[in-house]
Amino acid sequence: MSPTDPTAPLLAAHGLEKSFGTNRVLDGVDLEVRRGDVLVLIGPSGSGKTTVLRCLNGLETPDAGVVSFDGGPRVDFAQKVSKADRTALRDRSAMVFQHHNLFPHLTVLQNVIEGPVQAHGVPKAEAVARAERLLARVGLADKRDAYPSELSGGQQQRVGIVRALALEPQLLLFDEPTSALDPELVGEVLTVLRELANEGWTMVIVTHELGFARQVADEVLFFDGGVIVERGAPAQLFTAPQKERTRRFLDRLL
Ligand code: ADP
Repeated sequence: MSPTDPTAPLLAAHGLEKSFGTNRVLDGVDLEVRRGDVLVLIGPSGSGKTTVLRCLNGLETPDAGVVSFDGGPRVDFAQKVSKADRTALRDRSAMVFQHHNLFPHLTVLQNVIEGPVQAHGVPKAEAVARAERLLARVGLADKRDAYPSELSGGQQQRVGIVRALALEPQLLLFDEPTSALDPELVGEVLTVLRELANEGWTMVIVTHELGFARQVADEVLFFDGGVIVERGAPAQLFTAPQKERTRRFLDRLL
């Protein structure tokens, strides 16, 4: 399969395993994301959803499993993985966290250009132009010189999203991007996510916002106990789940 094969999934991860001490957190997770698709991960707290994202983004190293992007080289975590392979894998995706994790002593603009300039060597003028364009797109052009503490939680999270977009990743990973927000601020962040989905961004989103998941997901994966118990199109999974565990989880939330 060539790296430019348009039929290859953008991301393929097979057999991901991860333990913390004796706690087996991922017990053989397989997932594929096609270009332009939105994959939503749902499931009870502690089921391994965040760990999957962190393994895909290189923040955690799986004990075993094979990950490849774009039909390119397969990184096999059961073998020793070179630093170059690890960096190449990490640079494919950018993650948006539950808490925005903005640097408090930097302005909005400085927060957004920091990654492109420091990590990717983008010339500063180009990074600034890109940042201004992206901030305008999420309605925050006038906040470029503000500090994070001067923004609302929803605005901070929108800056967090812009910071990920500024890295120009192929894949966006969102870890419960609205769960730290006051309820009245959730909508503005979900609107940005919907727009990104409509623009064709490829995204993997961990969320408890099931109404949103139903609208944007191409596929929903239900996690429990470190495995994917059930997967399917949202219309199928939310209305006619096949597994008892999925049904019980959804009954509690819907
Ligand atoms: P979820 O996102 O579904 O809530 P997580 O992936 O965050 O689940 O966590 C799965 C399990 O892994 C939990 O039991 C959690 O306590 C454990 N865990 C996650 N990260 C670490 C870590 N760095 N060290 C030890 N245990 C961890």
